[in-house]
Amino acid sequence: MVDIVEYAKRGSIEVIVGPMYAGKSEELIRRVNRAKIADLKVLVFKPSIDNRYCTNNITSHNGKKMECLAVEEVDKIMEAVNEGDFEVLAIDEVQFFGEGIIEVCERAADMGKRVIVSGLDMDFRGEPFNITPHLMAIAEYVTKLTAICKVCKLPATRTQRLVNAKPARYSDPIIMVGAKESYEARCRECHQVVR
Ligand code: ADP
Ligand code: ZN
Repeated sequence: MVDIVEYAKRGSIEVIVGPMYAGKSEELIRRVNRAKIADLKVLVFKPSIDNRYCTNNITSHNGKKMECLAVEEVDKIMEAVNEGDFEVLAIDEVQFFGEGIIEVCERAADMGKRVIVSGLDMDFRGEPFNITPHLMAIAEYVTKLTAICKVCKLPATRTQRLVNAKPARYSDPIIMVGAKESYEARCRECHQVVR
């Protein structure tokens, strides 16, 4: 029979994915809060583009907040993992980190830690997003959330990119100077990529 106490000491990777507005940050915050209630020490990170290393917040689209460390490079997370002074490692917006994040998650889980990451599984083109698919493959648990399609109100699995209120082109650069950009959740039927 499985020894439940022994099992709880084993490390694992949980991945929460879906399009924008699916509630990924909300779910990450919920899991971290429950770990804190259980008196577990949690490290919470997110990628930063402009700040090097600072205290920041994860904020969900419905206003839920959680303090975290914003880091530019995965090295900072690896340092914290190697120090080992935690039980749970949580990372939001994981798709923006480079390949190094895979080793960070594996290392922490191999050390017996619980790893929880959340991020986009597809980019605006509906294609696999960077390292997220890899993390989904090596995870023990994958939770794929849906949002509500802005057009037809059915479950949405994709993120629609709009440039000046029109569906983005497949080849549009990620950063478009001077353009008004927005994103919304859409289902497979309503999702559009102009080729
Ligand atoms: P994610 O991290 O996946 O982008 P968040 O956790 O930040 O999502 O936000 C989820 C919240 O966004 C929902 O609980 C809801 O209040 C709000 N929301 C706004 N637009 C939508 C939508 N189209 N579908 C679902 N939830 C939406
Ligand atoms: Zn739709």
